[in-house]
Amino acid sequence: MKKTITAVCAALILTLTCSAVYADYDISVRMDGITSDEQQYVQFGSIKPVQLDSRTLVPARAMAEAAGMEVVWDQPTQTAILLLKIGLYSEKPIERYAAKAISMVNPPTPGLVPVDITAAIKLDSPTAVIRYNFRDSEGDYIAVGCEYEMVSKTILIDDGTLMLPLRDSMEIFGLTVGWNQDEMCAYVSVPETVTVPDNMRVIQNNGEGEFAPTEENLREYTSYNYQDLMNGGDGLAYAYENTGTYLGNFRITHYCPCEICNGGWGNGTAWAGEITPGRTIGVNPNVIAPLSWVYIEGYGLRRAEDTGGGIGTNHIDIAVEDHETVMRLGTVYRDVYLIE
Ligand SMILES: [Zn+2]
Repeated sequence: MKKTITAVCAALILTLTCSAVYADYDISVRMDGITSDEQQYVQFGSIKPVQLDSRTLVPARAMAEAAGMEVVWDQPTQTAILLLKIGLYSEKPIERYAAKAISMVNPPTPGLVPVDITAAIKLDSPTAVIRYNFRDSEGDYIAVGCEYEMVSKTILIDDGTLMLPLRDSMEIFGLTVGWNQDEMCAYVSVPETVTVPDNMRVIQNNGEGEFAPTEENLREYTSYNYQDLMNGGDGLAYAYENTGTYLGNFRITHYCPCEICNGGWGNGTAWAGEITPGRTIGVNPNVIAPLSWVYIEGYGLRRAEDTGGGIGTNHIDIAVEDHETVMRLGTVYRDVYLIE
């Protein structure tokens, strides 16, 4: 009897500890000598920083202001432009840093006046563009810049707040970002040594040319649910609960291209060429039509590209990389939504 009580208590404590860690989602961001020589914590409003795929995302406006930058949002191209002013004698360390950085850029013709530094960060795109902007004697703008590969993505949450990846959006300007996991705190500072990218080239018409953001391939972007992100979720379950059609709670199994899983089919799917782990699922076509997209709770978006004799009603077989993963993930039950 005593043993049982101890076990129950231990289980309770474990549950409480875990939920406390989960709910204690308090990320802070400290600016170390950015807009003044002091250390300042960024004051966020009702929307706080969140984590998605272990990366910190911050509300764009609050973050830009704390970094001494301006931010504008270009709706047609769904691009955020962060603007950093330069000022060799500015009282803001960040503007003195920016002046040093732009002085290291070789303008295409002599006599150009440095103006500012901008970063164009497109929603849900892995590629941003950094530009060092100059003006000639006629008042025309000429930019020198390059593309910048983002590690994390920029998202919109459901109240319309744009969330920038903290690290990417600061490192693109050459700023230093540190992270303390125990304190859940990020630190942004001006680097001791100023460097600029070495693969830059002239961008004609200040960005309307080569790297101009386009409206091509624009699609409706998913809004991520703030509360779900704060609870450690992927931010999508709520979104699809609202827009998708609930199909039910499905039995989820996993398969890979190996002989055991896929027999003579190898890498091939029934309807969409090769198996793509992260996208391909096998379905029962009487329940989910071939090539339709579904949202699977805890997995995200998947496409019905495959089928098989063993797939029953309310059953989805999810393609994964290898057989080890198949064995590890086993069988689970998840809510599934059909996406229009
Ligand atoms: Zn396998």
